[in-house]
Amino acid sequence: SRTESTILTTSIWNDVHTLSRGIKPIDLGVGFPNFDIPAKVRQDLIDVSEESDYSVHQYAKGFGHARLTTALCELYGPLLGQEQLNSARNVMITSGASEALFVSFMGLINPGDEVILIEPFYDAYLAQVLLAAGTPVFVPLRPSSDRSNSSADWTLDAAELEAAFSPKTKVLVLNTPNNPTGKVFSRPELEMIAGLCRERGVAVISDEVYEWIVHDELSHVRIASLPGMWERTITIGSAGKVFSATGWRIGWAIAPAELLNGPRYVLQLSGYIVCTPIQEALARSFERETALLRQQSPECHFKSMQRKCQQKRNQLAAALKSVGLHPIVPEGGYFMLADIREIMAKLDLCSDSSEVKDVRFMKWLLQQHGLLAIPPSHFYSAQHRSIGENYIRFCFFKDDATLDQAIKVLQKMA
Ligand code: PMP
Ligand code: GLN
Repeated sequence: SRTESTILTTSIWNDVHTLSRGIKPIDLGVGFPNFDIPAKVRQDLIDVSEESDYSVHQYAKGFGHARLTTALCELYGPLLGQEQLNSARNVMITSGASEALFVSFMGLINPGDEVILIEPFYDAYLAQVLLAAGTPVFVPLRPSSDRSNSSADWTLDAAELEAAFSPKTKVLVLNTPNNPTGKVFSRPELEMIAGLCRERGVAVISDEVYEWIVHDELSHVRIASLPGMWERTITIGSAGKVFSATGWRIGWAIAPAELLNGPRYVLQLSGYIVCTPIQEALARSFERETALLRQQSPECHFKSMQRKCQQKRNQLAAALKSVGLHPIVPEGGYFMLADIREIMAKLDLCSDSSEVKDVRFMKWLLQQHGLLAIPPSHFYSAQHRSIGENYIRFCFFKDDATLDQAIKVLQKMA
């Protein structure tokens, strides 16, 4: 099982690159779209690259390029119930959501502070909490039955969550829509979590990078918008996810100025300022898309991305069902878990127990069929890995040719 030192020195994202060498897999693994980013967003970058105004090519002032922090306040202020956000004090621009998470953990946690992680969690949280000398405390989402159909069936046990709080609890990490289950936390679920955090004086780091990809007309509820939560929440987002441009490496943290004090110190001592021209391009994209969103235009990128993604979700879910890889249909995001128990039994892949089940299945799928998927046990502590190892994670935000090829492989395999 993975020890603290392997958690700090290895990563599933590097492992999949190494394992894929020489294979050129059909890639439903890592979470990024393998098709063109929106043309209008690409055009914003072209325009900025031709901009003669020196200021968009030099250091940004403060903790983010002003045009971008202003555009983010304009969009997110009302959504967070904070119309009066101050772009200089309440927003920090980072290198991806990854760095926003890192500086938040480093800035908030002192050695020995406890951090509640809801499982499955995006793997970076655990390594970053350990680096900050925090103590992780794990609470799993539990599927309501052995045959769960939807990410909505994966819920927290309120008593189990409450029992995870102690006088040392400093932070709870929330991720909605969740990677890898696709769970979109409902308002009552968030109220339950918020109630405990308020009562125990705990801060929330809310990772909402998939906020615009919520399916079936559900709504994305921001925990910072609930009563008494703004003052204790850092809300984190990612331009990589919002505009399907994961290589642009821009993320942000939005919070009350006092909560950002520690994270700012860490940021100014590390990367300090991120790429100004990319921030300028994103500012232009956000300004346009916020206006389209307010006009309820179907042209709004946030809406068209969601429609496209939902259609791909439905296609993959139907294909998985037909081959006996029972899917947990996600309410949000672009990942889907599929239950591997039946197929592993059928293919007699269960006899070798030298490795965790889903890792074994992932390697078999890659080596025998050239199809890349992610083993969700990496999103669990050793304590609860037995829940996650029964599944495999597919990313379905891929072009039609890739999805078609993957579906053919799955059909052949069944
Ligand atoms: N949080 C979650 C839940 C993620 O899935 C990812 C990976 N895309 C990140 C954070 C990191 O995002 P970024 O690429 O902006 O660093
Ligand atoms: N967030 C991406 C995923 O879950 C991975 C990003 C990375 O390569 N670290 O697939």
